[in-house]
This record gives sequence, C-alpha cells and structure tokens, in this order.
Amino acid sequence: MPERTETESRKLLGRLRDTLAESSAGQARLDRITHLIADSMETEVCSIYLFRDAETLELCATEGLKPEAVHQTRMRLGEGLVGRVARTATALNTANAPAEKGFRFMPETGEEVFSSFLGVPIQRLGERLGVLVVQSRDARLYSDDEVYALEVVAMVLAEMTELGAFLGEGEALKALHKQAVMFRGQSGQEGAAEGHVYLHEPRVVVTRPVADDPEAELTRLHDAVEKLRLTVDDLLAKTQADGAGREVMEAYRMFAHSRSWIRRMEEDIGRGLTAESAVEKEQSSARARMDQVQDVYLRERLSDLDDLSNRLLRILTGQGHDTGAEMPEDPILVARNIGPGELLDYGRKLKAIVLEHGSVGSHAAVVARALAIPLVIQAERITTEALNGDHILVDGDQGLVHLRPEDQIASAFRDKIAMQAEAQSRYVSLRDKPAEATCGTRINLHMNAGLMADLPSLVGSGAEGVGLFRTELQFLIRNRVPKRSELAALYARVMDAAGGKRVVFRTLDIGSDKVMPYMKRPDEPNPAMGWRAVRVGLDKPGVMRMQMQALIRAAAGRPLTVMFPLIAQVGELTAARKLLLQEVERERRLGHVLPEKLEIGAMLETPSMAFAPDTFFDGCDFISVGGNDLKQFFFAADRENELVRRRYDTLDVSFLSLLKMIVKRCAAAGTPVSFCGEDAGRPIEAVALAAIGFRTLSMRPASIGPVKSLIRRVDLAELKARMDAAEAEGAESLRPAVLDYLRSLS
Ligand code: PEP
Ligand code: MG
Repeated sequence: MPERTETESRKLLGRLRDTLAESSAGQARLDRITHLIADSMETEVCSIYLFRDAETLELCATEGLKPEAVHQTRMRLGEGLVGRVARTATALNTANAPAEKGFRFMPETGEEVFSSFLGVPIQRLGERLGVLVVQSRDARLYSDDEVYALEVVAMVLAEMTELGAFLGEGEALKALHKQAVMFRGQSGQEGAAEGHVYLHEPRVVVTRPVADDPEAELTRLHDAVEKLRLTVDDLLAKTQADGAGREVMEAYRMFAHSRSWIRRMEEDIGRGLTAESAVEKEQSSARARMDQVQDVYLRERLSDLDDLSNRLLRILTGQGHDTGAEMPEDPILVARNIGPGELLDYGRKLKAIVLEHGSVGSHAAVVARALAIPLVIQAERITTEALNGDHILVDGDQGLVHLRPEDQIASAFRDKIAMQAEAQSRYVSLRDKPAEATCGTRINLHMNAGLMADLPSLVGSGAEGVGLFRTELQFLIRNRVPKRSELAALYARVMDAAGGKRVVFRTLDIGSDKVMPYMKRPDEPNPAMGWRAVRVGLDKPGVMRMQMQALIRAAAGRPLTVMFPLIAQVGELTAARKLLLQEVERERRLGHVLPEKLEIGAMLETPSMAFAPDTFFDGCDFISVGGNDLKQFFFAADRENELVRRRYDTLDVSFLSLLKMIVKRCAAAGTPVSFCGEDAGRPIEAVALAAIGFRTLSMRPASIGPVKSLIRRVDLAELKARMDAAEAEGAESLRPAVLDYLRSLS
C-alpha cells in the first residue's frame, strides 16, 4: 500500500465532489461514495454509519460487507468499535481490531473478521452525525496521512449530510432538523411561551466543501486570518479591561496568532478542502475536545478558539452576524450562552430564552429574571438542532423545550399558556385592591428590581414600592465601572419613575456569583462566603463611596433609603453607616442639596445577625431579611448548587423558628422588618411568612398578583394556629399543615 500523498487525498476529494454533483438519489450517492473510498484507499471494506436517533447508529451504505445488512445492522452509542468512535468523537486506528476493547463481531455483516479497522467520526461543529469506517483483511495500521485523508472525507460527508445530500428511506436518512425534539434543561426563570427560533449566532452554512484550486484557497485563508487579527487587535485596544480581564483578552489574541492552528488549516486545504471547510474541520475537533476537557481554564481557551473560528467563518463566507434572517414576531432566543449586555439589547421583545450553557446565577439569568422572560438553561445541543424560524415551545417552569413539536404537544401546551393568561387577568383585577387577609391583617407587597426596565411594573403590578433595588445589575451589564454621573442620572430616573413611592437602594453586592468582568477577582475557594457585598465596600470603599455620592445627588432633596447587604456583625453596619454619613457631610460641603430624609437599613442574611446584640436591632432604621442567603447559610446548602439547592424546605420548623425570632426581636426594638428573598414571591411560602408575623414582603413583580390573591383568601390567625399545632406535634416541616389549611379553603 503506497503512502497517501496530499495529491492523492485531493484526488479522492475531487472524485467525491463529482459523485456528489451527479443527480442521483441519496442512497445511490452513499453507495457510490463507499465504493469510491474503498477503491481509492485500497481497502476491502468501506462503510457509512449514520445516527437514526441520538443513541442508535445504522449501517447506511457499504462496500465489502453484505448488502442485506444495510439499514438492518444497528448499534448503540458506545457499542462495538463503531459505537466507540461515535461516542468519543475521535478516530480509532488499529491493525488488530478483534483485540481492541469493545470489539464485537457482527455476523450479519459477513462471515469474515477484518483485522484492520479505521473509523473516523462524521461530525459537524460538535454535532455527531455518524461514523465512516474502512477495514481490510491484512493486519495493517493506516498511516497518519490516511487517517487524516479519511477525516477530511468525513468532514465533507458531514457538510453534505447537513445540506440534505443523502436523503432517503429510513430513519437515518431522514432530513436533519425536521424531527420533533425535546430538550430537558433546567428552569432559569418561570413562565411558558410559544414562538419561533431566533438564533443569537446563526449557523454558518458551508455550501462548497471541496476546493478547485488549493492555491486560491490558501490565499483566501491568509487574507481572512489577517482580517481576523486586525479585528481582534481592535477589540483589545477598545477594551479597558485590566488584570484578569486583560489576561483573558491577551490569551484570545494569542490564539488568533497561533501558528499551529493556521498550519493545521493549511494542511486541510492541501488535502482538498476549501478555506471555510478547513476552518470548520478544526472547529469541529476543538468542540469535540471541549466536551471531554474537565479543566475550566482549558475549556475556556477552547471556547475562545471556537469563537475565533466563528469569526473566521463569517469573514470567509460573508455570512455575518446578520444573515438577513428576519426576527420573527414571536422570537425565542436560542444561544450557547449570552452576556447580560447582549440580552438587554434584545430587551423585552423576546418571548423566551433557551441557553445551552448558563446557570441559575449567571448574569444572563439575572437579567432574564429582571425582565420576567421565561428562561431554560442547560438545554444541551439545542444550538446544533435548532434552525432560525423553527417552531418552539418553552416551559420555563419545568425547564423543558419542545423544538418542532407534534401538534398534540403544541395544543396541550397552548392550554397551559391560556390557563396562565387567565390567571394573570384575574390578578390584574386585584391590582388596586389591598393584600388584606380575611382576618383583616394587611400585608404590604413591594417589588424587587434592578434595572430601569423594571420600573413600569411598579404601576402594572400594584406594588407599593421597591423593597429591594439590586444596584449591582448596572455594574454587571457594562464592561467598565459606571461613572458617578451616569449612576446619579440612573438613580434619579428610578426615583422619578417610582413617582414618590419608596425605593430601597441596596449598595453593591458584588463577589460571590456576581462577578464583574473588569474587576480583579481574588481566586476564592468559596466565593458565596468570601469577599463580597459590604465586605468589599468596607475594605476598599472607593466604589461604594462613589455609589453613595450618586445616590445622594440623585435624591436631590427627596427622601433616600439605603440598605447594606450581607451585614454579619453590628460593627459592619456601624462602619457602613459612618461612611454614608461622611459622604452626606461631604456632599453638603460641596453645596449639593441633601436628601429630605435618610433611612439606613441592613439586610439580615447571615444567622449571626439573628443573635446579634440589641444594638443592631435598635440601630437600624429597618431590616430586610435576605432569605436566599440566610437560608443557604442556615442549612449550609449552596443556593447555586443544583445538587443541594432544593434539599431543605423554607417551611422547615428550624428555619421558621429563626425567622420568628427575627420578627420578634424587630418588634421588640420597634424596627420595621420585611422579607425580600425569592420565597416572598411564592404564594404558599408568602402566606406562611405572613402568618409568622412578616407584614412586608418584597418580590419580583410577576409574583405580586398570585401572592395577593392567596393572602386575600387566608385567615392568618387560623393559619398560624394550624402551624403552631403541627409544630407542637413534632412536625419537621410545616408545609403539610399549611397545605392542609389551604385545601380546606376551597
Ligand atoms: C437574598 O439573599 O435573599 C437577597 C434578596 O439578595 P440576593 O438574592 O441579591 O443575594
Ligand atoms: Mg443576598
């Protein structure tokens, strides 16, 4: 067997291209291709296996195995050597196949056992489509060059499969991107929506995988790389990142100049690929590696490479970010991941968002929640399946996504949306009514906010004020520290929009999950319990002081309410208050109008403060319980960790005892107390909180209707009695008692 040379693999690709150009049917094309490869590579067998579903491969064409086995022989992912290639998405080359781990003899394909085996994945940008195999009787190990040549052919096959060149009978030859697929992700923000896919980064379609003139392709590649380097340099010059941010950008730039990356693509072109398919081939193998790498740093570098490849593909194909795809009227954004700034650019016109990555605490999730857009995260592989304009249903409550759904699913889903809409209209009718329980107790319902865009909900939801304005969102969505004048203008607009209603501004709570791209971030073993919130503000007061100045200027004579997050010791509140008062004094000296009234409060988010000396309760103008943090520290269960975050119940007697103690101590000190964690927005938890004495609850605007509606049906004294009785009987969670009571109402 002679060594394959570049020219030979180019010849093979040339023959392949001619075959593809013939107007034969899908199956006939596949048959011709296996014949051609076996002939060119001088092997007895060449076979193409394609996926018929996510778990099963089917023999779709063969030269050398029994023809009857075609469309009959199937194997599961990971089964046999073919299944192994499919699962690992890497080539397998062996001179002694029967000795390989996982080898399985399949008599239905022929009597013989072939000694040598070379299998390469047929994949396109991480989408696994099948496996291409050559086998021969003699015990030969295919040369690196042959492996490479077969990979190049597989790449072209992948491209052509994507373009529908092999459509035919049977599941495996069905058109891609036509079947209904369901994705099981996780809920990032509740709500249901029906609409059409709008891809954040549309797929670039390579229509010309095989080149006519390698020299011309090399020139195209080099020109494109040159352009890419210029844009990356430009990007770097524009970013004012320092520290870690700068390092990341430098690493990105280094990749754009990587010799080995360019060399691999030049080699691909030498073997007959066009510049764009060479880029895509390298991108595909980087993505396959990305799926296997555990190391976070390495994964990020591979994702840089992915991003650079996308840019290069756009330069080469002219298919820009804007592929001309019109945004549908009911857009559902589908993306691998998205930054908070980009998400804000789309704004409220999105009906839902589906992300392949992302986490509950990611910035995109924070923004989606603030905009009340249903969000599903961790919907694996959705960007490889979804096409612009596909019909899609998103169930943010369950974390489910139906792509190209069957009619039955769609109609069941519409019923669900209709029921939600009906409930919503019922809530609108409650908007101007008080949240008054049947026993006559009134509960004040406030809303949580973080963006200017939230403010219109103040009127729409019937909230009595903003109980928590999370100021860090403004910092998270920018790529530099906002200026004092920008913040002052924004806070002033927030107060204007609130029209005299009270807005509780919480000073920056950065650190933990909320990390700013432009700020140095210490590498902390446990950031939620690390250097965050007021701890940063007190140790390095520059930004917090600037924020205080902005707040005082924004108030410009109006009342101002400021709250400090994560106070864990009385001394921290004393120090923060002192800083604020110093800033007030400074502003006075500078001649600015001072707030008419200044209220200073603390968030109670660590168990330590429930046991704090009386001076804490006496020294606060108000206290707001941050249930999200308080609960995670009380149960030692990370609120961002899917494995434990739902493990402990808010209505657990131990947690409720802590809350009751807080309510009691606040009452004794005459200090108003509210609850502003997520639980305040869950109707069942909300009535329980009201029953144990909370008179103010702050929640996301969409929760106000459902919470108010339930409060108005409940007798809080009666509910409290039921809860006390269950506790006396030794119940661990009071949820069953609360639910029993609520059922008795209907
Ligand atoms: C909380 O911890 O309950 C809270 C409201 O603050 P955040 O969710 O912003 O930490
Ligand atoms: Mg908190």
